[in-house]
Amino acid sequence: MNVADSRRVAAALEELNYQAAARAEDADVIVMNTCVVRQSAEDKAYGRLNSFKPLKMANPNLVINLMGCLVGVKGHEKLKQRFAIEDVFSPPSAPGPQVTYLTQDESKSQEDAVTSRRFAFMDGDLVLPVAEQNQLVSAFVPIVLGCSHACTYCIIPYRRGIERSRPVGDITAEVRSMVAQGVKEVTLLGQIVDRYGADVPDGPNLAALLRTIHEVEGLQRIRFLTSHPNWMDLDLLDTVAELPKVMPHIEVPVQAGNDDVLANMRRAYTADDYRNLVAEIRARIPGVSIATDIIVGFPGETKAQFQNTYDLLAELKMDVAHLARYSTRPGTVADRRMVDDVSDEEKWDRFRVLEKLQESIAAKINGRYHSEIVEVLFEEKVRGRWRGRTPTNKLVFVESENNLRGRVLPANITWTGPWSMQGALPTFGVDPIIAVGQPTWRESK
Ligand code: SAH
Repeated sequence: MNVADSRRVAAALEELNYQAAARAEDADVIVMNTCVVRQSAEDKAYGRLNSFKPLKMANPNLVINLMGCLVGVKGHEKLKQRFAIEDVFSPPSAPGPQVTYLTQDESKSQEDAVTSRRFAFMDGDLVLPVAEQNQLVSAFVPIVLGCSHACTYCIIPYRRGIERSRPVGDITAEVRSMVAQGVKEVTLLGQIVDRYGADVPDGPNLAALLRTIHEVEGLQRIRFLTSHPNWMDLDLLDTVAELPKVMPHIEVPVQAGNDDVLANMRRAYTADDYRNLVAEIRARIPGVSIATDIIVGFPGETKAQFQNTYDLLAELKMDVAHLARYSTRPGTVADRRMVDDVSDEEKWDRFRVLEKLQESIAAKINGRYHSEIVEVLFEEKVRGRWRGRTPTNKLVFVESENNLRGRVLPANITWTGPWSMQGALPTFGVDPIIAVGQPTWRESK
């Protein structure tokens, strides 16, 4: 979501004739986008912000824009006092404050001054390569902003505000303009993406939106994330199976395998409900891959309850499991009413045990791709090898002297590991073959 938000601001700045800088040191404007989903992310953001202090001292005209969940939707007085170097504060998904700041100050909006100006994008770790992003093959499109569900551990609803679905027309226009700029794949984003339209009276649902976007000519692949188990319905699953451009990959977090822990998280389903959902997804979408999220060490989670999570993962064998150690987030129900009583050491132990389990599960699943031909959408060249993804979202690396950016090509999988694969392109070359958007994975898997 933050990558999508940063890109929006980048586009707004480019419209004001700003250009991307390669380093923060060269920028006139620094946009620092932030995540606070766990304490570690928040700490990283503070570290980064501190590192801008010398730049601001050396150049008082430098504009620093603090954006995202550290700012939130409810004001930023404390942050202003703490760092005192920010010029602009922007809530998540909001390019407005930055644009207003730059266009209201007359000295900054004079044409000739502006044309030489540069901006840099930062998040907790890195400078986002905006120039590179201009040739994006795969782009994120937020369709539901905010969240109104309030899982007890989660800070997102407090920082991103209530759930708001964007109109179908806006989303489709955005997808069209991205495709016109060379984008081949879009990933539709929402905290609970399968609730798309549920906040609007008589609103469309996600299945209907997928059908509309499927019509966009030139677009080759559509994905969406993240789904909440309770909002996935059979119509959505059947739509995914039916539409060739919608990839057979579902991200649907379970968070825990014990019913009491799930209730304390206020997830509103049981482990059995989740089991049934996974069975339904697999029955209806041939060759589907499924990703899940799991939190270990939620307040009160006993060893026996953790074992339920382990057993569920071992039983369901997901393609991907994003693992997190519970981190208390200020203002959440878990923070106010529960005790963070699982030690750090114990959280790490549980994390490593699951990580090891997942490594062996993923290695086995991916091993089935060996010697298969799969269609890969290639995105970019990294350290001499082209990086792309299968319809099931597996990472594939291929060596080739040709420019594969944005192309869907069949690759023969020659090596598989738990986290990625290697492949080779057929020797008859890259040009002739691909009938774009023909989902041969359905036959081959
Ligand atoms: N609505 C999105 C949430 C994104 S946050 C979703 O359902 O995926 C991504 C993941 O971070 C969550 O699924 C959860 O596993 C994890 N997470 C959220 N809050 C957390 C917390 N306080 N401590 C540890 N992990 C957390």
